[in-house]
Amino acid sequence: MKHALVTGGAGFIGSHLIDRLLAEGWAVTNVDNFDPFYDPAIKRKNIAAHLDYERYRLVEADIRDREGLFRSLRDDYDVIVHLAARAGVRPSIRDPLGYQAVNVTGTQHLLELARERGIRQFVFASSSSVYGVNPNVPWREDDGVLRPISPYASTKGSGELLGHVYSHLYGIRFIALRFFTVYGPRQRPDLALHKFARRMLRGEPIPIYGDGTSRRDYTYIDDIVEGVRRAMDYAATSYEIINLGNQKTVGLLEMVRALEEALGVRARLEFLPAQPGDVPRTWADIKKAKRLLGYAPRMPFSAGVARFVDWLVDQGRQK
Ligand code: NAD
Repeated sequence: MKHALVTGGAGFIGSHLIDRLLAEGWAVTNVDNFDPFYDPAIKRKNIAAHLDYERYRLVEADIRDREGLFRSLRDDYDVIVHLAARAGVRPSIRDPLGYQAVNVTGTQHLLELARERGIRQFVFASSSSVYGVNPNVPWREDDGVLRPISPYASTKGSGELLGHVYSHLYGIRFIALRFFTVYGPRQRPDLALHKFARRMLRGEPIPIYGDGTSRRDYTYIDDIVEGVRRAMDYAATSYEIINLGNQKTVGLLEMVRALEEALGVRARLEFLPAQPGDVPRTWADIKKAKRLLGYAPRMPFSAGVARFVDWLVDQGRQK
């Protein structure tokens, strides 16, 4: 039986990945500290079904605590999927050192674990935010210069660089996946789509930062999980950075219209000044993901939004 060490496995993306791994027969160890960035009760709910599996182990540990981490992780793992992080762009501007501690030092602790224990495969959750204000769209992984504009983005770029060092020195295969705005059931409550939908259901106005012309390349959660799963098996080269997006960019007001359609509610817009750290546009070139991983995102945006809304409304009913 294959054994994956997943960090951040109680969060949005991690809990979906673990659903998939358990269904495929993997043993999974999840390291998560139930960080209070958003309500930890949501994360407890995300993992509730995992606790029924004997093949699943929950380790409540903080990746900043090297000793604690090394002490509680005793098994042999075939692969590490490192998703634990402080996520979110704007809060990173308020607490840059807090982000650095989790996202950079924490990542290095996991790389050290891989080195010491001889774990040969390491998949790292990077982010489209590392491209920052790169004007050359769609963004390609081999476009040399990163132009991050938030502390969060720079911590993700640092994780990619650390990965290169460990790959080069110790032969750990390191695959950094640059996720582009991930959405779907269990989406983080701080992300715009989720925040807007909740406000619209309550009849509250939604804040539009800037003039509403910002654009995002949205990726449905199942497509991301498929990409991560494929990266776990990738064995052709020792270091890769790969975009996981949709290669389509959706305007902010288009996103609001998709929500209106799915919720059957009209949005009231409140225009506010643009926020520092927010990039005007994200847009993935996904040819490399196709070539190396056979990645082909399937979920059209409007259908994905409808699925997210079904989930959200269902959550409301359960309260
Ligand atoms: P999430 O916040 O739902 O999940 C992250 C998990 O990490 C949480 O369960 C949290 O408790 C855990 N965690 C945080 N600090 C920790 C620590 N010190 N020790 C142990 N666990 C800790 O976020 P998500 O949206 O599922 O994102 C997963 C990964 O993907 C993150 O690395 C994020 O930066 C990256 N990413 C996400 C998106 C997106 O659109 N959701 C886009 C780009 C990159």
